[in-house]
Amino acid sequence: FGLLRRQDPELAQVLLDELARVRGGLQLIASENFASPAVLAALGSTLTNKYAEGYPGRRYYGGCEVVDRAERLATDRARRLFGAEHANVQPHSGATANLAAYAALLQPGDTMLAMALQHGGHLTHGSKVNFSGRWFDVVSYGVRRDSELLDHDEVRDLALRHRPKLIVCGATSYPRLLDFAVFRGIADEVGAWLLADVAHTAGLMAGGAVPSAVPYADVVTFTTHKTLRGPRGGAVLCTAELAARIDRAVFPFVQGGPLMHAVAAKAVAFGEALRPDFGDYARRVTANARALCDALAAEGMRPVAGGTDTHLALIDLRDLGVSGAEAERRCAAAGITLNRNAIPYDPEPPAVASGIRVGTPCVTTQGMGPQELKEVGMLVAQAVRDPGAAPAVRERVAGLLSIHPPYLSEY
Ligand code: PLP
Repeated sequence: FGLLRRQDPELAQVLLDELARVRGGLQLIASENFASPAVLAALGSTLTNKYAEGYPGRRYYGGCEVVDRAERLATDRARRLFGAEHANVQPHSGATANLAAYAALLQPGDTMLAMALQHGGHLTHGSKVNFSGRWFDVVSYGVRRDSELLDHDEVRDLALRHRPKLIVCGATSYPRLLDFAVFRGIADEVGAWLLADVAHTAGLMAGGAVPSAVPYADVVTFTTHKTLRGPRGGAVLCTAELAARIDRAVFPFVQGGPLMHAVAAKAVAFGEALRPDFGDYARRVTANARALCDALAAEGMRPVAGGTDTHLALIDLRDLGVSGAEAERRCAAAGITLNRNAIPYDPEPPAVASGIRVGTPCVTTQGMGPQELKEVGMLVAQAVRDPGAAPAVRERVAGLLSIHPPYLSEY
């Protein structure tokens, strides 16, 4: 870092400011985490220089024998971690992992069934503003209005009516567990492939805190930077039968050269997740989410779907008369970073939204436990209800951070 500071002080200052931002507030964005210094070291390595189109042992460039070892470590560890027959660790992101999975299983114009964005699905699950909505005939399912839980009967009815070639399960802002066995049954009934997009819960799955999708889905896609606490990126798991199709879809169909520094960092993260203490981490993440959700509920902030089984909670703010966007601003002023989020059947447009989403991967990595999360819940509630409380909340946030600082050492 000293070298970067001498050569490019302007950019170095950006890194320092971002570190200060992270260390100066509570990070409750459910899709973020703090990768370990070992993961960051791999990301900042000379592997960034290497072109390695293809796969280990069959590259289109010379000099790949060393980076081949990084990719083999990553794929072997991913397979072991998730008990999968095949792993592809090259996708640059969760979105490209999904693009590759669709490319392997579908032709443009084919029908797929996935969760609606407004009900917790991801953009790549068929939103009109995304390639998935443009290139496929998308049928969407959602949650029930009364329980705000996924409606398996609706999924089955839609599957029987539309006969999709692919059923996608997995979500971005759904706080409850998915029943992968039920999805498998529906997929079998209509002869569809089943794709589980576990971008959010991959780390919880790896740590055994939530049930795994791998025994049920034909293909599992995920991101490596959320609960899994690795570098920003994506990966695909699949059956041996689909291995060659998935590999061809990732390269050369969707991507060119893999980011070998990111592949190496994924290997490091998978190695960390294979250690027994990662299971403890995953269970603490979910216990902390429950504590946070309960604390918010006790403050009159209603959890969508009645609570959480995962790392995140979705909070309906309509009774408080505060929009999601305004709550996001008020929390930011109080040193708490979170995001506005649409709730199911939201009357507001997404840019305003009636809810907020909170998650515990970051604060758990910092070492906080249910007791601290109870306090965090009270602080969020105070900040959302009363903009004047920001200075007092900020002070208590600083107190929590002084005991549980993220990234102890300077760059
Ligand atoms: N799938 C789901 C369910 C997600 O939540 C996300 C990201 O939030 C993605 C895919 C896309 O990941 P990325 O942002 O790495 O493209």
